[in-house]
Amino acid sequence: MKVVIFSAPSGAGKTTIVRHLLSKPDLKLEFSVSACTREPRPHEVNGKDYYFMTPDEFKQHLQNKEFLEYEEVYKDIFYGTLKSEVQRIHDDNKSVIFDVDVKGGLNVKKHFGENALAIFVKPPSLEILQQRLLQRSTESEEKLKMRLGKAVYEMKYESFFDKVIVNDTLEHALEEAEKLVRQFLGK
Ligand code: ADP
Ligand code: 5GP
Repeated sequence: MKVVIFSAPSGAGKTTIVRHLLSKPDLKLEFSVSACTREPRPHEVNGKDYYFMTPDEFKQHLQNKEFLEYEEVYKDIFYGTLKSEVQRIHDDNKSVIFDVDVKGGLNVKKHFGENALAIFVKPPSLEILQQRLLQRSTESEEKLKMRLGKAVYEMKYESFFDKVIVNDTLEHALEEAEKLVRQFLGK
């Protein structure tokens, strides 16, 4: 089973790129829906964007060893890949697409070895990243600062990934992502 991993600082454009790839039926990709303990954003759907959980529910899954990987991406906010998600997609004869943080991305890559393509999405600059996060207007000022603060650290992980896409103009980034994924999947 082949898997494609997208990692990047928050606001770099992972979700936008992943959605584009999922809209191409011939790629036969399916999104690995992660568990997380943050509040849903307006328009986010439980079971589609994330499995939204309370910290206690998350801990329970952790104790039951149900996670392939998990991270405390921000202080007290946990995100994790459920083994059952990967199994579900495998049973469906599809390739998995992951949107995970940089550490999770590298753990998933290690798990799947040669069968994984790990792509780092890079914003053109931290200033542009800030603008995009502001425009998305999903975060409070405090949360925005937390995400930007972490971005500086996350950018250091770029060199551990198989490929890097600079998300400058969206059209270019989507084209590049599709090209790399098609090459890797042989489609
Ligand atoms: P992530 O999933 O990495 O946090 P998103 O895909 O949510 O990032 O993108 C963050 C915001 O930036 C969204 O509002 C998105 O519409 C916008 N965006 C993404 N790529 C570009 C781009 N190339 N140019 C301008 N805005 C973009
Ligand atoms: P957001 O709150 O913006 O949806 O996601 C915040 C960060 O958590 C992003 O970098 C996203 O890729 C990451 N993330 C989402 N799901 C998972 C997961 O299952 N595991 C890990 N390690 N990170 C995740």
